[in-house]
Order: sequence, then structure tokens, then C-alpha cells
Amino acid sequence: MKSKNKEFFQQSPAPVRQVFCSRTLNLRAIRAIGYDMDYTLVHYNVAEWERRAYEHAKEHLLQGGWPVESLEFDPQLVARGLVVDTELGNVVKANRFGYVKRAMHGTRTLDFDKQREVYSRLVVELSDRRWVFLNTLFSLSEGCLFLQLVDLFDQGKISSPLGYLGLFKRIRQVLDSTHMEGRLKAEIMADPARFVCPDPEMPLALMDQKHAGKKLMLITNSEWEYTRAMMCHAFDPYLPEGTKWTDLFDVIIVSARKPDFFLSQSPLFEVVNEEGLLRPTAQGLTRGGIFWGGNASLVEAHLKLSGEEILFVGDHMWGDVKVSKSALRWRTALILRELEEDVAALGKFSPVQTKLDSLMAEKTRLEGQLTWLRLCLQRLRHRYGPPCPMSRRELDELSDEVRARLLSLDEQLAPLAQQAGELSNPLWGPLLRAGNDKSLLARQVESSADIYTSRVSNLLYCTPFAFLRSQQGSELSFIKADPLPRETDDSQPEGV
Ligand SMILES: [Mg+2]
Repeated sequence: MKSKNKEFFQQSPAPVRQVFCSRTLNLRAIRAIGYDMDYTLVHYNVAEWERRAYEHAKEHLLQGGWPVESLEFDPQLVARGLVVDTELGNVVKANRFGYVKRAMHGTRTLDFDKQREVYSRLVVELSDRRWVFLNTLFSLSEGCLFLQLVDLFDQGKISSPLGYLGLFKRIRQVLDSTHMEGRLKAEIMADPARFVCPDPEMPLALMDQKHAGKKLMLITNSEWEYTRAMMCHAFDPYLPEGTKWTDLFDVIIVSARKPDFFLSQSPLFEVVNEEGLLRPTAQGLTRGGIFWGGNASLVEAHLKLSGEEILFVGDHMWGDVKVSKSALRWRTALILRELEEDVAALGKFSPVQTKLDSLMAEKTRLEGQLTWLRLCLQRLRHRYGPPCPMSRRELDELSDEVRARLLSLDEQLAPLAQQAGELSNPLWGPLLRAGNDKSLLARQVESSADIYTSRVSNLLYCTPFAFLRSQQGSELSFIKADPLPRETDDSQPEGV
């Protein structure tokens, strides 16, 4: 009987599928859950989707006479959470204090000395328009194209009256029109299996929530025709017979224009036919309708709920999570698919990490000894303080010995620290780490996302009734505490 019980209870998910918690969240107290669609309820094959977006943008640039024919999309060149420096033509990774820990100029990595020369007196402040944060996986084509065009600009092959800022603006304009134009979307709707990664567990997770009494909402910036095609493809094959994806939701809003949706009083329209024809709606949101535009106040009034009773789940750090939290105090969940790769890589690396931590502890101990020896020598030299049991010569000899041990320790530490910094992505390292500190993205997650996880279906494992506890106060639960914070010490390479 005992073993039968054991089998009956749901097993804990694999570490890569865990829900991480930065602020305690009682799911029983949540009465409505809003979902974003792209890269939240519908996950795309990033290399495929972004490559097509990139190629469409490249076509636009070629038509404008730019010499970009030989450029190829490289999905590893940038990552979510990096920051574009539009003044210097760089992409940088910053730690939680905004100190730059890695940088690329064009497709070339800046070496440590150059990086220090450029950024030692600069802190990344996202409120300054100079810096552009790569908020979502949709940013990968943008960041990649920017770095490649910086190379062409430096070689004098393209001109930009506004320099690197002008280049960035041009890329954004081209990619925005690529996302807006029907051709790319039509290509995806015609062959969704090529672009969408199915997740058969996701519909069950949403059905559990719905039958637990939570009002479900879909609030997407995508337009109706595209939303319908993607949701049909991702949900309908996995729902019970006779159920459609639209049956899951109490509220469906397309073309929502987040983050303005959370801040504005934009008018609401009803989508009246499959082609997306709109009409003004006098009575506001109604169950079973498909709506266009509108705003979060209308949602709160319709549900008669507000603030902490609503959980919003999305993948866009700013547009889904930061603004809904700061403007409305909704509870928030961030979807970070790359976590799966990061958690797996960090798990595999953990024996080396243990060694790295113990070497760092030894280094800290020896550094402490060296500072004490230095102070004893100073007191001897200036003849003050309590008597020292060692002669000046003995102190000198001991100092040399400690220095030699530190040097040999650094030789052991350097390759391990380098390995740690190349996990998941050889250019940029793990998403939530920068050197041996938290990354700027980790700081954003901590301040705005109550929970974060790699995919919506991970909520299946914790059920709609879970009490999710923050493990270490405000610490990100899976990031190891920094053994030796060095936010103001840039005298050493990253990680050592
Ligand atoms: Mg999205």
C-alpha cells in the first residue's frame, strides 16, 4: 500500500522544470491569471523564428542598397538580458549593480583592459536612453544584426549620420515593420509545425487552473488572425474532444499594446468575425467575446478583482512583468525558456563549482593573512602599536610565502572561473550570472517577477493550490550566493 501511495503522488519535477520563487506566492489566493501568448503560451523554435525575422530584415536592408548579402543569423551572438550601448556600438553584460562585466564591439569581444578603459567609470542605467535592454527572445535578431552592422559601419561600408545610434534605430524600424507586415506571419501561419514547439502538458495546466475557479485571460499584442492560428495549433490537439482553446479563457484580448495596456485608458473594440472586423463595444468585456485593444482597468472592473488577486504571466521583462507589477501591483510570473539550459549546465558543473568555491574560500583566507602581515610590517616600520612576536625579516619571508601560495591558487582558479563564465553560452555565460555575481537580468527578475520558470506547463507540477515560498528572502533561489562580492573591485578578470 505504501509503495502504491508513493507512485500515486506526483513526482517532483526535474530541476530544469522547477518554478523558482523570488517572493512568496500563495496560488490559492490568486483569483485570475492573465497570459501573454508569444513565447509564453506558444513557444517558438527560436533559431527558426528569429532566423526568418532576421532574413526578412536583411531583405529590407538589401533593397535599401546595404551590403548585407553575406550576413548570417547567429543565435549565440547575443542573449536575452544583455544591453545595447547605442553610443559606442557595443553589446554588454552588466551585473546587478550595472557594472559592465563583458562587452562586444561589433562581433569582436572586448578584452579586459579595453573593457575597463571604456566602462570603468560608467554604470548601465536603463532609464538612460543610451542603453537598450534585450527584453525577450524576439530581441535576438535585433542584437545580432546590430553587432554585424557595427562591423560594416567601422569598415566604412555603410554610412549612418547618427553613428551607432542611427544604425540601431534603422534596425529597429526594419524589424518592427518585419513583425508588423503580413508576409512573415503568413509564412508562420502556413506552416506552424515548423515554428511552434508543442507542449502537450500546457492545456492540462490551464484546465487545472480553470476548474480550480481561477478566471483565465489571454492578453496578447498579436493580432486576431495570427493569435487564432497559433492557439489552435498549440492547444486544440491536446484538449478533450469538443473543447476549443477559446473555452479555456474568460477574457481574450488581442492587439493589446502592452505595456501601454497596463497604463492607458485605450478604448476597447470587439472582434466580430474571423477576418478580424472590429466594432465599438458599449457594454465592455463579456465572456465568450474576442476583444481588441482596451486596458487593464476594464479587465479589473469586469472581473471585480484587482492588485494581488491577479497573476500575470509573460516572457517580456518590461512589457509583461515590470509594468504590470509597478503600475497595478499584479502578481507576476516571468517565463524564461533559457533557464532549462542554464540549470542543466549549472547542475553538471556543480562538482567543479564546489572546487571553485573551496579555492575561493582559501584565497579569501590567504588575502586576509596578507593584509594582516602588511599591517604588522607598517607598525614595525613606524614603531607603534602592540609588540609583534616576529621580526621584520620573518614577516617579509612569511609575506613572500603567502603571496606565492596566492599566485599558485590564482593559476588553479583561472581556468575554472573561465569554465563557469562560459556555461550555456561561450560568449556570455549563464543568463542570471555575471562573473560570480548576479546579472542585471537577475536583478530585474528579483525586483519584478514574483516567480520565474522555463515554461507555463511547469505550473502543472505545483498545482493551482500551492504555497510557493521564497527560499532565501530576496535571493534568487537557484543562484548561489557570491563567495566574494566585488562590485567595486574591477582590478581582476571576471570570476577570479
Ligand atoms: Mg511574449
